[in-house]
Amino acid sequence: MHLLTTVVDMHRQRRALAGSVGVVPTMGYLHEGHISLARRARAENDHVIATIFVNPSQFGPGEDLAAYPRDLPRDLDLLEAAGVDMVFVPSTAELYPPGYETWIDLADLPTKLEGAQRPGHFRGVATIVTKLFNLTRPTRAYFGQKDAQQAILLRRLTVDLNFDLDLIICPTVREPHGLAMSSRNAYLTAEERQRAGVLYRALSAAAEAYERGERDAESLRRGMAAILAAEPAAQPEYISIAHLETLDEIVGEMRVPALASVAARVGKARLIDNVWLGREVG
Ligand code: AMP
Repeated sequence: MHLLTTVVDMHRQRRALAGSVGVVPTMGYLHEGHISLARRARAENDHVIATIFVNPSQFGPGEDLAAYPRDLPRDLDLLEAAGVDMVFVPSTAELYPPGYETWIDLADLPTKLEGAQRPGHFRGVATIVTKLFNLTRPTRAYFGQKDAQQAILLRRLTVDLNFDLDLIICPTVREPHGLAMSSRNAYLTAEERQRAGVLYRALSAAAEAYERGERDAESLRRGMAAILAAEPAAQPEYISIAHLETLDEIVGEMRVPALASVAARVGKARLIDNVWLGREVG
């Protein structure tokens, strides 16, 4: 497995690749969720590139940029075992050199859900992913359902900016009790980790009600809110049933596929999770 750290090297190595290229962008501190993306990329492409970059521009003031967990040696071992060919691990100065001033802004999607809580977050995400797409020129790029708004917004970006690639959304990998795997779970104590299973319990209840035929969005939101309220360790930030493409909150009857999503604070961590209603992930 090749470890690349500079833009010049990345461009040079990419030019030498013939055939299909699968790309898996990450911020490192890898877990089984990330590795599921790498394995799928391995199965579907001639070459696999993973990237590890904790992108400062997607963290707001007061967020956890400095504390974000890191373990590069372990990450490299896991990626090698998953069959990844190249890992791009640039420094911040390499991607944002002095004088940097180009940003990618989507008009509407960043104002919803996560974007409403984290101003500027998706500007940072859209910008870094555009740069990584230009650096790695994927045939297929792999993202997790776990960050559903990110995946939906990046699909829009891929179409809007005419990137010649397939953006593939992979199902959320969970702990046995349902908690979605996340690098940020490292901030939780063992007890908080158990209690944080309440996010998925609330989402599962919404999915089950939907399966039984419930189509009143407000009733699904109320059901999730009641389950979350019964766990004092979780402080919800939003509880949403939204249109799966526009991410607008659904009012009244659900006639289209929907994203059921929650964000909540548990201990030192801010956690997000979602399920899709009326459409398979992919
Ligand atoms: P991150 O390192 O948090 O930026 O995540 C890198 C990629 O892995 C993103 O596309 C995430 O959506 C995806 N990912 C994170 N957690 C999971 C999970 N539990 N299951 C599947 N994909 C995930």
